[in-house]
Amino acid sequence: MGYQMSEKDYGDLVRKLSEDYRIFAPVRKIGEGRFEGTDVVRYDFVTDADEIELEKKSDYPFREFLTPLSETLFYFTEDKVTEAGLDPRPVLIFLRSCDVHALKRIDDIYLKNGRDEDWFYRRRRDLVHLVLIGCTHSYANCFCASMGSNQTDEYAFSIEKREDGCYYSDVKDEKFKTAFEGLKAEKKDVTPSYVTENRTKVTPPDRIPASVYRDKLWDEYDARCIACGRCNFVCPTCTCFTMQDIYYSDNGKVGERRRVGASCMVDGFTNVAGGGQYRRKHGERMRFKVLHKIGDFRAKFGYNMCVGCGRCDDVCPAYISYANIISKVAKASEDAGKEEK
Ligand code: SF4
Ligand code: SF4
Repeated sequence: MGYQMSEKDYGDLVRKLSEDYRIFAPVRKIGEGRFEGTDVVRYDFVTDADEIELEKKSDYPFREFLTPLSETLFYFTEDKVTEAGLDPRPVLIFLRSCDVHALKRIDDIYLKNGRDEDWFYRRRRDLVHLVLIGCTHSYANCFCASMGSNQTDEYAFSIEKREDGCYYSDVKDEKFKTAFEGLKAEKKDVTPSYVTENRTKVTPPDRIPASVYRDKLWDEYDARCIACGRCNFVCPTCTCFTMQDIYYSDNGKVGERRRVGASCMVDGFTNVAGGGQYRRKHGERMRFKVLHKIGDFRAKFGYNMCVGCGRCDDVCPAYISYANIISKVAKASEDAGKEEK
């Protein structure tokens, strides 16, 4: 069932939903961008439709609710461990099709990548309902169509503003229908908009021969990449973290344990005892990041981890294009395949 809504209806809907749900959505933060006078779109909790940015693609990912940059997991004393509390109210996350596909990848890592599910992730995940933001056009650097993440039907309801100034929604989850029924919205068949083609196109390789791991193509990034880690922090599929114990007392027996986001591109990520470091060169780190997302993950779960959202390309201060690197890896894989024959 779908609905066509006026701006007022849409505002009433969000207000009504915010009585029962916490709403986590992209918000335009005025003047908080990288350069003076620029804005940034990042996720935050909102209660008003005016706060939600439906037009611009978010610069930062939706996963900040599910995998916060810093999350206290539990508190400990000498003989007792207490899990950190979590607001039990359900959460509505507004996100795009590529992000819904990214969520599937994060679920795989936290819930299906070992014997047990990650308990701390699971309790957050169980609170989440998805609101799909329809994409009426492609954005700079998106290559979602190439990665097969341009369309989804995994959502509770969709929302988008179209050229006629009205808001359109397709409601899949029955329990949200009551929120719409109370509005003056007109019932209509609605299919969420999605892009079928992006200006940036890639063809990820089906197989990456081992020789590509030693290919010279990675050397370029020793100098170009400054190892700032921005590409990791904006990526909706990056899941690496580290642990920090914060001690409240000198004897180290009272404190809290935090899970903190980590970046495979920055110094220290591969440090080991004795001063060792597995990937010192920035090109080696790039190789690890790229091949993890289009090689290793696929070997385990059967599809690519990268969803082609283009955020890493948007944010890189060195103008390094992940999409270009996928094409280089595809070419190197093809050449290596020919040599093998
Ligand atoms: S690829 Fe770009 S964004 Fe990522 S670490 Fe290197 S310089 Fe930073
Ligand atoms: S395009 Fe970049 S930011 Fe987006 S999923 Fe792929 S690697 Fe992550």
